[in-house]
Amino acid sequence: SVVTIDMVDPWNSYVIRNSGIENRKHNLDDVTEFKKFKIDNGLNKCLAEKVSLYKGDITRLEVSAIVNAANSRLKAGGGVDGAIHRAAGPHLQEECDTLGGCPTGEAKITGGYNLPAKYIIHTVGPQDGSAAMLKKCYENSLAFHKSHNITSIAFPCISTGIYGFPNRLAAHIALRTTRQFLEQNEGMERVIFCTFMPVDVEIYETLMQMYFPVH
Ligand code: ADP
Repeated sequence: SVVTIDMVDPWNSYVIRNSGIENRKHNLDDVTEFKKFKIDNGLNKCLAEKVSLYKGDITRLEVSAIVNAANSRLKAGGGVDGAIHRAAGPHLQEECDTLGGCPTGEAKITGGYNLPAKYIIHTVGPQDGSAAMLKKCYENSLAFHKSHNITSIAFPCISTGIYGFPNRLAAHIALRTTRQFLEQNEGMERVIFCTFMPVDVEIYETLMQMYFPVH
């Protein structure tokens, strides 16, 4: 079954439907981290409509592009990468094989093949915990917005699986980088954070309230 963008609640409706989450206590480290990030309150309402928290299989999402947490050889592997290759079909690997790999922090784009998504953006997350490299993954993936007219994009929790990046710090980087991108770029209608592990659902529910406040 395909999940269309209309079926994914924007963050502001998600908060209303799951209003219990507003009572969760913020971790002190998160608050300190957040204060370093200056926000313009006038923008908050608009930005909360442009992001979503989704729980489930990224391969089912009908968006302009889904992001793959790939490896530098662009060979089908495990985790979300394996799931994407299985769902997209063998022609995806054929196209990946023409791209000459992808360095850590960079991103390359292919067709979506059998996926409901039009494109797959393959980005290679750090294996050594580098925050700067993880930030580059989000920036370089979002940058295809201009060249390929991507108006909706879904990210998995890059590097937090086999590559072992700490989940909470990874979520801060994902949300902060996306917030900065949305403040500086027009035309991206929805960025979906696709969580798969319960630990990430809980982290994103807390941190999205800080980076994309609804009230
Ligand atoms: P990395 O090698 O970058 O760490 P992984 O694929 O091992 O990438 O893990 C990244 C995240 O993707 C993990 O949270 C994992 O649970 C999640 N994941 C695995 N399968 C899927 C899927 N089908 N849809 C969305 N996320 C998935």
